[in-house]
Amino acid sequence: MLCAAAGDLVPRAPAEMEIIMDKIKMTTPLVEMDGDEMTRVLWKMIKEELLLPFIDLKTEYYDLGLKNRDATDDQVTVDAANATRKYGVGVKCATITPNAARVEEYHLKNMWKSPNGTIRAILDGTVFRAPIIVNGVEPTVRTWKKPITIARHAYGDVYKAVEIKVPGAGKAELVYTGEDGTEIRETVFDFKGPGVLQGQHNVNASIESFARACFNFALDTKQDIWFATKDTISKKYDHTFKDIFQEIYDAEYNEKFEAAGITYFYTLIDDAVARVIRSEGGFIWACKNYDGDVMSDMVATAFGSLAMMTSVLTAPDGTYEYEAAHGTVQRHYYKYLKGEETSTNPVATIFAWTGALRKRGELDGLADLCAFADKLEKAVIDTIEGGVMTGDLAAISTLEGAKSVTSRAFIEAVRAKLA
Ligand code: NAP
Ligand code: MG
Repeated sequence: MLCAAAGDLVPRAPAEMEIIMDKIKMTTPLVEMDGDEMTRVLWKMIKEELLLPFIDLKTEYYDLGLKNRDATDDQVTVDAANATRKYGVGVKCATITPNAARVEEYHLKNMWKSPNGTIRAILDGTVFRAPIIVNGVEPTVRTWKKPITIARHAYGDVYKAVEIKVPGAGKAELVYTGEDGTEIRETVFDFKGPGVLQGQHNVNASIESFARACFNFALDTKQDIWFATKDTISKKYDHTFKDIFQEIYDAEYNEKFEAAGITYFYTLIDDAVARVIRSEGGFIWACKNYDGDVMSDMVATAFGSLAMMTSVLTAPDGTYEYEAAHGTVQRHYYKYLKGEETSTNPVATIFAWTGALRKRGELDGLADLCAFADKLEKAVIDTIEGGVMTGDLAAISTLEGAKSVTSRAFIEAVRAKLA
């Protein structure tokens, strides 16, 4: 395990004494998970410019950069997830999920699994993703007036599937053997030639906590919640999701929803997609794991930019893990390595930090830490609405005189507003 009290990294020159005296105190450490490429560069800038000057930052640091995951045989990812469970709040930088090209690029011992997949499997949570709305960046969908939050089940299905490349003619079967020896057997397909085969699973306990996480989040944020699957085609698998949601809703949430003036409704995934596009926004759209992965990128992009999408994983035991929804922005990183200053948008990564700090503040009763998170978010939004933004936003902004600046200049402009 790698530990560092990040606050200790601040230079304590006499001139800075005044600021250090006034720094906001923390009582419990945040679990800090560093990452890869361009987002790792932004991570450091955000800490140095926007956090360390103002907060006596307490973190337990885990380096989830690909090199360290390889060096620790990915143990660091498991340790970070367990620490997040222990302390209750974590903040994570985007990380590379290795593929064959990355194995070569980083001379990896193994094609390590997705760190997010590992963390989600340990925490068994639900991921909520919501766009950050700013004036001057208009959604592609004209009717959208309010954010649409995607709730993504973070366990199982295709992410935990086993697959076979079928070499040739033969029979594929699905077999379940109970602990008492009872057997259930279904023919999947009689192959006449080569093909592919996949076995997926999910567990009722995880679907139940997904349902409760969604209903609780709806009550917390006073928003309606929609849930959709393909239960007409998948009469056992998807239908189980539909049934579990309905049973839990009827037994535990119906009255609470009525009292809060919000609604739950279930529909088919294709109907949901059509309704979402015609809607005004302002609701939560609960999706199975794969649907949530794909639809959150669609919703984020249609709201303006992938870099304006926040993401929080909530687990049934009350653990929260905050991150940006986008990846490590590899293309920008290669430019950065050549010495170019890039205009990579740090907003979702800043909001990952503010989300985590605010939650830490709420849990520990630190009102000034919560207030700092609000102030930092406001400074970010004011900076963009004042016309200073990164290239991805400048390209689509409707503000007159919107100016595209580098990541560093943007972060400095936010700091100036904060100070
Ligand atoms: P990506 O990092 O999300 O970037 C895709 C493209 O979206 C970028 O090339 C850029 O477009 C734009 N973009 C994304 N974030 C941006 C930002 N903050 N500011 C400005 N533009 C932004 O996805 P990727 O390139 O497919 O994946 C790169 C690596 O990230 C992969 O190794 C993948 O495994 C990993 N990944 C990690 C996570 C995670 O940890 N949560 C999630 C997804 C992917 P332009 O190039 O056109 O400017
Ligand atoms: Mg995705």
